[in-house]
Amino acid sequence: MGVYPFKFASREFHPADSVIQVGSVRIGGGHRVFIAGPCSVESLEQIERIGRAVQGSAHILRGGAYKPRTSPYSFQGLAEEGLEMLQRAGRALGMPTVTEVVSTEDVDLVASYVDMLQIGARNMQNFALLRKVGAQSKPVLLKRGMAATVEELLLSAEYIMAEGNSQVVLCERGIRTFESYTRNTLDISAIPVIHKLSHLPVIVDPSHASGQWNLVEPLALAAMACGADGLMIEVHDEPDRAWSDGEQSLKPERYQELICSVRRLVNSMEEE
Ligand code: PEP
Ligand code: MN
Repeated sequence: MGVYPFKFASREFHPADSVIQVGSVRIGGGHRVFIAGPCSVESLEQIERIGRAVQGSAHILRGGAYKPRTSPYSFQGLAEEGLEMLQRAGRALGMPTVTEVVSTEDVDLVASYVDMLQIGARNMQNFALLRKVGAQSKPVLLKRGMAATVEELLLSAEYIMAEGNSQVVLCERGIRTFESYTRNTLDISAIPVIHKLSHLPVIVDPSHASGQWNLVEPLALAAMACGADGLMIEVHDEPDRAWSDGEQSLKPERYQELICSVRRLVNSMEEE
């Protein structure tokens, strides 16, 4: 098994960068991906409107239909209705879609509606769920647990890959530290560390990492400067009225400006 406790996820096993295909979009090995959309799907009109607003500057449309909320009294997502709305919006706009699945019983249903399955931070070590998404063929976006080490993240990827699904993209979304000004602390070093240990692409979610819309752009730029393979960003056209995570959501115009800044940064890095 080599010097690392994981095999399929390790660079020793697979020296070249993996390129993960989501619909017609490629991620990794120099292909950068921008994923954008609201935290939650709220209505067909909402997901279509926001999708249309990010279409020119995002490759993949996101939107939650099953929301793992801290409080059982918070909005839990529109479930299958939400999946249907996300699918319709994605098809109308020609964008692949990603959404979170929170329970093993829902995996087949969710996989029948979207192009990529997201495992959220709170479920990174839900091993039954990891095995279940590993046994189906849609690509998986695996988010780092808020108290998980990089090694634990890679071992969770290993659970998925050991079942036969090697289409895994990792996501750094901030970890819990003593700092309370931000929602989480973005672990920038995780990006080069993962790239050294693993061939899997790693993207960054500066929205959940910061919890504040005005911090999203600086963190996104830092992530890309560190070599991230892409970004996942929450966008809402009426953040004050969002059903979840409005405080950290960018308005579409700000999101577009952010992507312009990111493209400038990446171009200047590639010139050298
Ligand atoms: C999300 O992407 O909406 C989400 C709930 O993220 P996380 O699992 O990272 O908290
Ligand atoms: Mn969210």
